[in-house]
Formats: sequence, C-alpha cells, structure tokens
Amino acid sequence: FVHQLADDEVHPDELLASPLVPSASPGLPLPANLYGAQRPNSKGADPTHRDERASFEAALASARPQPIALANVADIAPTMARLQHGQHPWTRTPLSARANTLRRAADMLEARLPEFCGLLVREAHKTLGDAIAEVREAVDFCRYYAEQAEERLAPQSLPGPTGESNELSLHGRGVFVCISPWNFPLAIFTGQVVAALVAGNCVAAKPAEQTPAVAQRMVALLHDAGVPRDTLALLHGPGETIGAGLVADERTAGVCFTGSTAVAKAINRALAAKDGPIVPLIAETGGINAMVVDSTALPEQVIDAVVQSAFRSAGQRCSALRLLCVHESVADPVIEMLRGAMAELTLGDPARLETDVGPVIDDEAFETLQRHIARLRREAMLIGETPLHSTLPRLVAPIAFELPRIADVKQEIFGPVLHVVRWRGAPEAVIAEVNALGYGLTLGLQTRIDGRAHQLADAAHIGNVYVNRNMIGAVVGVQPFGGEGLSGTGPKAGGPHYLYRFCAERTLTINT
Ligand code: GLU
Repeated sequence: FVHQLADDEVHPDELLASPLVPSASPGLPLPANLYGAQRPNSKGADPTHRDERASFEAALASARPQPIALANVADIAPTMARLQHGQHPWTRTPLSARANTLRRAADMLEARLPEFCGLLVREAHKTLGDAIAEVREAVDFCRYYAEQAEERLAPQSLPGPTGESNELSLHGRGVFVCISPWNFPLAIFTGQVVAALVAGNCVAAKPAEQTPAVAQRMVALLHDAGVPRDTLALLHGPGETIGAGLVADERTAGVCFTGSTAVAKAINRALAAKDGPIVPLIAETGGINAMVVDSTALPEQVIDAVVQSAFRSAGQRCSALRLLCVHESVADPVIEMLRGAMAELTLGDPARLETDVGPVIDDEAFETLQRHIARLRREAMLIGETPLHSTLPRLVAPIAFELPRIADVKQEIFGPVLHVVRWRGAPEAVIAEVNALGYGLTLGLQTRIDGRAHQLADAAHIGNVYVNRNMIGAVVGVQPFGGEGLSGTGPKAGGPHYLYRFCAERTLTINT
C-alpha cells in the first residue's frame, strides 16, 4: 500500500523536520484574561449557578430599554463648545486620577453585570453567553487602558547635550468623536470612549441607533465613576445627520469609528475636505474573513472552530468567518461533519441558556440576509442549514453554501451565512487570493504543520491570524484586535499602541 500524498501535503521527511502544532482540543474555553474579568468570578456573575440565576432572571425581566431622546443637529455646536471648554480641566487632571476613574468604572460595571447583560439581551438580542462575555470585555478595556495610560503616557526625559533638558510628553488632542456599532454596543462603545478619555481628551459619543440604551446606561456609570459631565457627552441619532454633523464640526480633533468600510471612507473624505487642522481617523471596519484548512487538519477541531467563528453571535461580528477554504482531499468529510454540526445548533430566544443563535439586530438586517440567501439558493450549492423551529421574529438560520471560487465572495455579509470553497495546489496561492479580496481583519489556519502555519501567517496581509482554533473573541491585552487594508487603519484595540493615536506629542527643550 502506497500512501498517496494530497497535493498540499508535505513529504514525511519535511514533516519530521517541522514539529506539529499541538492541537487544542475542541471546545476549549477562551483564554482567561490577564485582567480578570473574563475569568468566571465569584461575584454573582454566572447564570448557570443556581444561587446566581435569580439575579439574571430579575435583570432580564426588568431590562426594558427606556425611550431615548434623540439629539438634533442644532445640539451639536453647543455640545462641542461645552466639551471644548471642559477639556482643559480634564487634561490637567493627573494621569493617575484619570486612570483610577476608569478602574472605578470597571469595578462598578463588574458589580452590575446581570443588569447590563439584561440590557444587551433585550436591546441587542445577544445570547446570554455573548452578553456576559461582552460585559467582561468592557470591564477589561477599562482596566487595560488605565494600566496602559500609566505605563505609556507619562512624560519622558530624553538625553541631550549638557546645558539642555529635553522632555517628550503626550496630551489629549481635544474633543474626540467616538462613533460605535450595534454589534458590540457596550464593549466597543466603552473601549473607544475610555481610551479617548484616559488619554486626556473630551468625548462626544454617538452610539448606533439600534442600541442607544446600553450606551446611555454606560455613560451614566462613567459619570458616576467620576468622569466630569463636561468631559463626556452622548448624542443619539442617525449617522447621516448626527454622526456627519459631529465629524464636520470645527472643534473635532479626532474621530474613532467602528463600522462599515464605506462609512469609514466617507468620514475620511469629510475630514479631508474640512478647513482647519488635519484631523486623524481611527477606523475599524469589516472583513471577508477566511479560514484555510489543509489536508493535515483535525476535522473535529475544524468543525468546532467553524461553527463558533461563523455562527456564534449570529455571525454579527466583524471578525466572523465568512469564507471557508478546504483542501479538496478533506472537503467531503469536512462538509459532511459541518452539515451535521449545523443541524444540532439551537436557534431561538437569546435569553435562554441553551440558545446558540438568537435573532439578528433588526428588520433591515433580516431582509438583507434573506435576499443574499435567496440569491445563493439560486446560484450556489446548499451544504447545510440549521432547522428553524421557533416563530420568534428576525431569526436567520445558519446556512452554508459551496461556491466555485474565492473571488465569487464579493462583499461582507453580516450574518450567519458561510461560503465554502474547495482548493488544491499550494496553500500560498489561497492566501494570495484571500489577500486579493482587499480586506485584512481575521484569518483562520487549520494545519498541523507548524512551519506552514508561520509561512502562511507571514504571507497574509491580515491583522489577526488564529491557528487551529476559532477566530473570534479577541481578548483585551492578549490578542490586540484590528485589521489593515479595507478592514481599518489600526491601531489595534486592546493593544499597547492604541492610546498613542489619541494623543498629541510635544517636545519641550530648555536651555538651562
Ligand atoms: N473583537 C471582536 C472579536 O474578536 C469583534 C469586534 C467586532 O465585531 O467589531 O470577535
């Protein structure tokens, strides 16, 4: 019997020279966060514990998002003037006091985990598991940026000739506009706002229209934690009017945006067209994220990673898997197992612990997904779909289709829709095709050839590469998150370079 090598397989000699990547067992929990909040803790934060379930049930029952007052375009100028006026005292607040305000906010948020989870489930239709992870991520952002600010933003003396002193210092830029999305209405909202604040800026925050209540509650918490009212303001309303008005305001000193690539480009154009100072943009946008599976991958691990990455959070993460590229030698068994795994998912009420996939955010998202799925039903081959047994509105059953080519996937589809492509030949060619899509947010690699994993990761123009695991749920301070190309400008959220982009640098030279 002669073993026929699949055409992507390495020769056994080469395999021996290149150690196998240790295979993570499927279903491993996310790495525990250095900052504590993502570890199961003892503060009444686990709804699976009988004693703690009551606080979650009460929070879910009482979480009725309140009606929210929308801002008018006429509110923008006075708000920005108030913030600009407030900026001075906040900048003068010692760095350690600003950092401690964030730490206080983290403790308060952690103590109110069930309440915020209730809001996330009711307003953003998060599953309970996703809601808990999101509150913990927001807590982590507060603690991480507090620590980073103290470590990185303090003034530094620099060496110079005798008779001269030199100091480099970092300052808030002024009023930062933070525009955040509905898919992480607490974590991304909080991460943007607290990063800008701790760096010494005032903030005008414009949350997504779909999720105003979570933002409102978090801003109240930040004010209670000690952020002065004239330092942080919230303006609710549509991007086209309120978002655009904030970007256009002459006092805007920086913009931090998470959302679609098209809107990021529109903001960039609007900033470039303005008179006055050059205003920086930090943009984190979407991706057509691929996972490349070679012939050595462990099928069970692949399926676990695919299901988590493509369907968790109903696929409404910018990191989510959209394009599964499987080597032809393992494609049939992988597709078969995927079909089986998809049939097992539970679709339904996000407040129930057993639910894997809840409803999508709104009717517009539902309609867009239905149109895309209808087109794929006509043009591609159906691989599998999760049965829909619930009558809850806006449920989109996870679904997977096979397409002939990578280039057939032309746009980011924000939902539980997976596109599968078979490949043969060199895996580098697959990465080149993925690079050619122009996005660069996340990439999954499934291979047990260590050398190959590094080689492909090096060749990819992609911000976050995950080998032999799922490709979602970047942990603050552990997996700094953000992409390149059409996926964003950087710097990475939850990483050591993030705060610098919110600062102006000044050098003071004194002839002594
Ligand atoms: N940071 C999230 C993750 O790693 C994704 C954020 C987003 O969807 O914008 O899954």
